[in-house]
Amino acid sequence: MPIIDKKLSITTDSKCDLCTGSLCCTYITEEITIPRSKAEFNHLLWQISHDNVELYKDSDGWTLLFKTMCSHLELDGRCGIYEIRPDICKEYSNNYCEYDVPPEEAWDLHFTNHADLYAYVQKRFKKWP
Ligand code: SF4
Ligand code: SF4
Repeated sequence: MPIIDKKLSITTDSKCDLCTGSLCCTYITEEITIPRSKAEFNHLLWQISHDNVELYKDSDGWTLLFKTMCSHLELDGRCGIYEIRPDICKEYSNNYCEYDVPPEEAWDLHFTNHADLYAYVQKRFKKWP
């Protein structure tokens, strides 16, 4: 049985080593303009019909979420291109990240598939399509 060091404190220096799934390297997001029209939601219905594409709304607006692991993430959780990783990776702070709180907790709306979003648009628009 492994010995667990209960005195191990989680700091910003140790946190990423403890984050076995390297959570922040397993998805990308793209903010979108606030969808209002039927045509815009129709387009989102197409996008969300694809595997691993989700949609959420939070206090910042609407965002497409692509659950796709970075091809540079190595089996040990390290970045395979650390020295030349993109700026967004360099600038990402682990001070308060997915390891601390699941991002879903801040989402007002979350759609994981076509059926979810279709049910929403049917309520939102009196006539759909
Ligand atoms: S920044 Fe956060 S989510 Fe990313 S590897 Fe470190 S602890 Fe995990
Ligand atoms: S480039 Fe490196 S740090 Fe950036 S997402 Fe990929 S594995 Fe993670």
